[in-house]
Amino acid sequence: MKDYPYQLNKNQWKEKLDEASYYVLREQGTERAYSGTFLLVNEQGNFKCKGCGEVLFASDMQFDSHCGWPSFDREVSGGKILQIEDNSHGMRRTEIVCANCGGHLGHIFDDGPTQTGKRYCVNSLSLQFEPEEKRQDTLVLGGGCFWCVETIFRELEGVLEVKSGYAGGKLPNPTYEAVCSGETGHAEVIRVVYDNSKISLETLYKVFFESHDPTQLNRQGNDVGTQYRSVIFYANEFQKSLAQKYIAMLQRDIYSNQIETTLEPLTKFYDAEAYHDDYYNLNKEKNSYCTAVIQPKRDKVLKMNQAILKK
Ligand SMILES: [Zn+2]
Repeated sequence: MKDYPYQLNKNQWKEKLDEASYYVLREQGTERAYSGTFLLVNEQGNFKCKGCGEVLFASDMQFDSHCGWPSFDREVSGGKILQIEDNSHGMRRTEIVCANCGGHLGHIFDDGPTQTGKRYCVNSLSLQFEPEEKRQDTLVLGGGCFWCVETIFRELEGVLEVKSGYAGGKLPNPTYEAVCSGETGHAEVIRVVYDNSKISLETLYKVFFESHDPTQLNRQGNDVGTQYRSVIFYANEFQKSLAQKYIAMLQRDIYSNQIETTLEPLTKFYDAEAYHDDYYNLNKEKNSYCTAVIQPKRDKVLKMNQAILKK
């Protein structure tokens, strides 16, 4: 018996694995055809050895073989799988095992339908699937007039999309006019879709607080009303707890006046009318609000954040 880098004794394996996986991985068992999961490719991610966690296949190597077991046309590089001649059950076959722990995976055949010509026929019970990490996140922020914050956030590297809208009120599908009355409870907000491998939530909060004055209660300058409140609509615990910590730090170290930013759970975001999209850039020659109010704010914040702007 070969010495594998990852070794457990029989009792340890039994403790680690469920009974069915132990039978397949450690006793060269075979699961019943069509009894396993992972027969169809429906998500991006990696297949790991259920015994030791080593990555063996990726979802783009999988194909639907109509044989009742998950099938792959190749393995990940780096010699993670060993091939062993198997003459059991009166057949000449080639067994495949995990090179790290020796766990039995299945067999390999030369009848694959893709260019490689190979079919790695693997027991579902030998594998665990790890979905590819989602890199796209969404954050909804209200920092006064949405024209002002929208034009700043769209310049940040890693921000994929910014949409102006309304959140936090009672009236469904509110119009701009209704929200401006201050009576619907909605705030003018932006929904920021971003790549969290390129820009962090903390950076977004930093720019958010630089883009407006969080110590003004229900107003930003001459814009007055609850629709202009400073608010973070959190979508999960992480957004909420980081916002709490960030505000606590600002209050302790930066602001002497009370920070009025509210944290509210995001229930529904309503798209604003299309004419609000990229409002500053498309209206700076027409609307003096752009030059008088938005531009100085925008220039100041973009200058402070030159290092993280889109090229
Ligand atoms: Zn393994």
